[in-house]
Amino acid sequence: MDARRKKIITTIIMFVLLAVGPVGAFAATTTSTSPSNGMVSLTFDDGTSSVLNNAIPILNAAHLPSTQYVITSYLDGHDKNFMNAANVRHLQAEGHEIGSHTRSHPFLPGLTTAEVMNELRQSKQDLAAIGINATTFAYPFGGYTVDISKLVQKSGYAGARTCDYGWNGNRLNRYLLKVHTVFPDTTLDSIKLKIAATMQDHTWLILVFHDVRHKPSTSEGTTIAVLQGVVDYLVKNKVHVVTVAEGLKLRNQLSLEQHHPGI
Ligand SMILES: [Zn+2]
Repeated sequence: MDARRKKIITTIIMFVLLAVGPVGAFAATTTSTSPSNGMVSLTFDDGTSSVLNNAIPILNAAHLPSTQYVITSYLDGHDKNFMNAANVRHLQAEGHEIGSHTRSHPFLPGLTTAEVMNELRQSKQDLAAIGINATTFAYPFGGYTVDISKLVQKSGYAGARTCDYGWNGNRLNRYLLKVHTVFPDTTLDSIKLKIAATMQDHTWLILVFHDVRHKPSTSEGTTIAVLQGVVDYLVKNKVHVVTVAEGLKLRNQLSLEQHHPGI
């Protein structure tokens, strides 16, 4: 092959790589509807092994990204019920977002300001130490105050997820993102209706999952069958599935476009 041809082929390969994005990242955007038609985030709290073993294979098979909110003191591998540092690094390489769910999972409104700041900063540092730049946060037990949400912002996060019921429209508070939690008695049909409403209203739905097993083990767990049903429905309807970090960026762009059409 002559040098010129080689150069052209190399350029084409570089272009393709740039278009595809980082290796391992999901290419969901190429097959799904525009985010302006609504979008869904799949978030999982606490970084349990059941999510790694039962939920991740379903998501990866469908090429859907998730956001995993992990408790950083559990990442040392001492408790086999939780993911370790290698697990979450691997998930990040596959295209999932890793966010902070504090270092020790306290109810933040019960702590002093200094203690809250420690949880926010140290968990971010713990993740940075293993190569993860956590840009979003989830409040343990959904516990927050407005002051705490300001501390989250001060600690360098781009946004935070509550456990408060609701959708995230154009006037969202990025440090108080609303959700729909999937409980053991939440039916697949009810989740489908919420997704359909999200697409109809062009808004952003964030689902919260915990344990994912054949039979839920906790009051917040869900079944493999329900998660599989949600994933199948999202794929079938070509719903734009985003990590929370991506959702925040897209929401910013969409509201800018609405305020400044044509720019
Ligand atoms: Zn939690």
